[in-house]
Amino acid sequence: MKHLLLLVGLLVASLSASSQTTSTTSSRPDSPAQFLGYKIGERFSPHHRVIAYAEQIARQMPSRVKLLPYGTTYEGRQLMAVAVASEANLARLEEIRTNNLKRIGMVDGQPSSASQPPIAWLSYNVHGNEAVSSEAFMEVLYRLLDTSDPVSQKIMNTTVVILDPGLNPDGHDRYVNWYNQMLGQNPDPTPFAREHNEPWPGGRYTHYLFDPNRDWAWQTQEITQQRMALYQQWMPHLHGDFHEMGVESPYYFAPSAKPYHEDITPFQRQFQQTIGQYCSRYFDKNGWLYYTRERFDLFYPSYGDTYPTYNGAIGMTYEQGGNTRAGLAIERKDGDTLTLRQRIDHHYVASIATLESVADRPAEVVKEFGQFFDKSRNSPIGPYKSYVVKANGDAGRLKALQQLLDRNKITYGYAGKAQTLNGFNYTSQKNEKSVAVAAEDMVISSYQPKSTLLKILFEPNSALEDSATYDITAWSLPYAFGLQTYGLTTKLTPSSTQPAASSKPSSSTVTKPYAYIAQWQSLPAVQLLAGLLKQKVRVRAAEKPFELDNKTYPSGTLIVTRAGNERFGDRLDALVRAEASKVGADLTPVQTGFVTKGSDFGSDFVTGLKAPRVGLVIGDGTPPPSAGEIWHFFDQELNYPISLLDGNTLGNVEWNKLDVLILPTNYNYARFLNDKNLLAIKEWVRAGGKLIALERATSFLAGKDGFDLKEKEDKSGKDKDKGKGNPADSLKVYGDRERVAISDETPGSIYRVNIDTTHPLGFGLSGGYYTLVQNTFNFDFLKDGWNVGYLKTDNYVAGFSGKNAKDKLKNTLLMGVQNYGRGSIVYLADDPLFRGFWYNGKLLFGNAVFMVGN
Ligand SMILES: [Zn+2]
Repeated sequence: MKHLLLLVGLLVASLSASSQTTSTTSSRPDSPAQFLGYKIGERFSPHHRVIAYAEQIARQMPSRVKLLPYGTTYEGRQLMAVAVASEANLARLEEIRTNNLKRIGMVDGQPSSASQPPIAWLSYNVHGNEAVSSEAFMEVLYRLLDTSDPVSQKIMNTTVVILDPGLNPDGHDRYVNWYNQMLGQNPDPTPFAREHNEPWPGGRYTHYLFDPNRDWAWQTQEITQQRMALYQQWMPHLHGDFHEMGVESPYYFAPSAKPYHEDITPFQRQFQQTIGQYCSRYFDKNGWLYYTRERFDLFYPSYGDTYPTYNGAIGMTYEQGGNTRAGLAIERKDGDTLTLRQRIDHHYVASIATLESVADRPAEVVKEFGQFFDKSRNSPIGPYKSYVVKANGDAGRLKALQQLLDRNKITYGYAGKAQTLNGFNYTSQKNEKSVAVAAEDMVISSYQPKSTLLKILFEPNSALEDSATYDITAWSLPYAFGLQTYGLTTKLTPSSTQPAASSKPSSSTVTKPYAYIAQWQSLPAVQLLAGLLKQKVRVRAAEKPFELDNKTYPSGTLIVTRAGNERFGDRLDALVRAEASKVGADLTPVQTGFVTKGSDFGSDFVTGLKAPRVGLVIGDGTPPPSAGEIWHFFDQELNYPISLLDGNTLGNVEWNKLDVLILPTNYNYARFLNDKNLLAIKEWVRAGGKLIALERATSFLAGKDGFDLKEKEDKSGKDKDKGKGNPADSLKVYGDRERVAISDETPGSIYRVNIDTTHPLGFGLSGGYYTLVQNTFNFDFLKDGWNVGYLKTDNYVAGFSGKNAKDKLKNTLLMGVQNYGRGSIVYLADDPLFRGFWYNGKLLFGNAVFMVGN
């Protein structure tokens, strides 16, 4: 096959912008090679050089190119998109942008009568170690400015192009810096050579090891928040997202695989085909292999293809074979060598083909986009025409949801007056006749530009046309946030944009209170506790509910008394109030510790909380996001210290310097937690330490000496098939193997958890707890320990759960606590911090860290 590759090289040369002509005219800007000093494909470019090239082009062609800087990464790298257009369009770029928003109702005002070009946005390198697309960016930019090229001319005459050279610069440079250090004078194509095996955690992820291509809707990461703010200002008609996959795979472009979300419009489906036709035309001409309609689906809403799709655009994923492993050259199984140059060519050609597909039908693309938003505003899809979210006195939860809606430009308001309506109750999963709506309840109307996105983020259960998907299958926000929500089939317009004035007595009336009280009900309370403990303020928690000043406080309520905090003197009040206002936690000052019901503040049932010294085991074997979510939670959300401990050096840990040890999923625990280390950890727990095991760490510990957790014996499978007719009838069919395999899986579905809210691990979760189940370990109930969260027989709520998985998820333990000596072990079978968006899990995790075992 080598001769074919040679031929391809020649064909690409004629297409490629990097082919150097000696007769550079003054109207041409620097080519990438002129600027960089090497030809594209000869090496990987660090992010700052890619940005510098864009800046150079913008300097040389100010009438065609405009830089759109939009922020910096956690590690301080520049985030920047680049707008490329004809001179005429660039001169009125701001008008084009605002006109587009006016046309779809996202800003007020009449759009001007000037014609509206489509805005096509290509995003490169969201996964940092899929680094070739940033190289392709430079060639695409250069090509679009080639006035002698008819395809570029056609695109520029009709379309405004926005290119983002690198969505994840921290990850990109993590990969490129590493790779360049590994490289000798000539690349070594041997697949098992060092340069093809990137060490943990790899450049795919953000600084905090989040997957940035799972974050489009949730926007937990700074890079996503800043990029999405820019995205909402432009609202492109088309969005392409460029990736890489395994070395042996050739190239993937649209149409996508099933499942498609049911709300993807006929036009959007049809355009998937159009993209496929445009790309395949060039790929066929070059003799390149590719595939479509497999593996990459359109369902989970937080990808770079689905998110734009649910925002009215044509959204696609492109995947080149290569990824972290390919480097400058790698030998494939068929003996051919895959080079960086080839990988760049494919993304480059797919980029141009995609832009051309829009340039050939600009009016149709703009018209369809407009119709999508007309429909959104006037006859929104889905059964619910409005949603009511109960305030229930928990400002923290509501505020967090509102922040997510704000970032997605979904508008909301408040009911403004009490009324009774019919609605679907998310908690009971039933339609109810008399839903009492209070004035301060939040109301979200579906009659708005973003109603498709709203519908998909709020749908109680997402219809899955085909269960073999790539990702989680349920994400319904009312469950993720643990907020009591109703879907109404009638239109309810919010009567005010501001919440009703609070009737609470102002806390400023009490200047020198006996104590401050904060309810333990959502993340702000955990943040407040972390902030106070960090400042060495003594904080206590009420184990039992109590009543004071005619108000009931639930278990877990935080109490800061003057007693025990004498050393702060008069500074205590300002300090506590400042910490509370910083995180938006509600604080109630009281003049007495003598309660009307429950335990007085001096009681043994009001426990002093320690400021735990926390360690987290990370390192190879951990799926990076599993550890990153916990790191991000402590560092960014709590601003509370956490020590990251490399699993390979656990033998060096001085255990008596830690109070809490967190074990996320890891596939190397057999090595990290060898007999010696495990013994040391058990001794440490016995002496008062707290071990928190998540997901696969629980199944690793299950059944081991000293750990009470046990997996159930699996009898079901063996008995079931016995004595049931002809054995030949139940033989496996090879072609069905993927479908059969998923009957054991639950790739992310929602279950209602039965919670013991009297246990510290369940504090604050009296409104119910829904978990995103991704594991089916099937644990027995703890005989001696506390079974705090478990599933009974009918706790399934939403998402795909295979038949066998559903059987396993009956009468099973999800969250348990074992007392061990003076310490405790917390088992969490699921990941409460999943992708940082499962808001209710943050309180649960806060319980595990701060409340359990005091
Ligand atoms: Zn990717």
